Amino acid sequence: MRYVWINGKLVSENEATVPILTHALHYGTSVFEGIRAYWNPENNNLFIFRAKEHYIRFHNSAKIMGIKVNYSIDELVDATVELLRANEVHEDVYIRPIAFVSASTVNLDIRNLDVSTAIITVPFGHYLEPKGIRAKVVSWLRVHNSMFPMKAKVGGIYVNSVIALMDAKASGFDEAILLNRDGYVAEGSGENVFIVKDGVLYTPPTYDSILEGITRDSVINIARDLGFTVIEKRITREELYTADEVFFTGTAAEVTPVINIDGKIIGNGEPGSITLKVRSYYMDVVHGRVSKYKNWLTPIY
Ligand code: PMP
Repeated sequence: MRYVWINGKLVSENEATVPILTHALHYGTSVFEGIRAYWNPENNNLFIFRAKEHYIRFHNSAKIMGIKVNYSIDELVDATVELLRANEVHEDVYIRPIAFVSASTVNLDIRNLDVSTAIITVPFGHYLEPKGIRAKVVSWLRVHNSMFPMKAKVGGIYVNSVIALMDAKASGFDEAILLNRDGYVAEGSGENVFIVKDGVLYTPPTYDSILEGITRDSVINIARDLGFTVIEKRITREELYTADEVFFTGTAAEVTPVINIDGKIIGNGEPGSITLKVRSYYMDVVHGRVSKYKNWLTPIY
């Protein structure tokens, strides 16, 4: 039996169900996070990666959306530790916190409606093929900041990601890349994008209708440690095609090489050397092998 944490209590996952008229089910009125915890066989311990930063973003998403989370950031980190211990997790897992409007009503006015907060753990391996994937720049655009605050990780807005991914999959690709309203590269359906050109890393700026990824931030730090220059700037579609290397970053995707975009081979069609360097260092960091970044990890045992 697996436990989930819901509104301060551990309950069995089978019992954690919601009524059919739940507001969030109909209108997408939820905010959520995706966090990973990595099992480290060298010290027989499990580490949550950047738990605090994820819960800060969770709180910010809720604030932007007007959803009241009744638990502080520290309480949510503690609840996650409690849940992982209760589930006796000894493998890599994905952690899914969610706060959702749980009232049963068809009314759109959420001001006085009940909110539930839950945390769920799911065993998790690779989300995307680490040997490299093929991406399609889809015709669906990323929802623009003027239409919805894209810094908030809100359930309903993920229909934009789903339709983009389904478009890419229908054309035989592994993942979608969405442009923003101005025609610049925004992000993947669940990942931020980096390109490498002449040894320099570029990634779209955070004000450009993207989710401010925590992996994106980690990779910027890591790449600079490795001596690379990282520049946040708008990226055009042709810069994608002519890049030496392209990679995705995300909690689920980690650092995933993109070796083909719209049928055009990126670089030499193999994961690039800088991508591999960054990924290798990232995997060391998440597993607690880099002392400088130990403060990004929350040990469970
Ligand atoms: N963009 C989108 C749309 C996402 O869903 C995600 C995954 N949370 C990311 C980027 C990457 O964010 P992070 O590195 O914080 O997981």
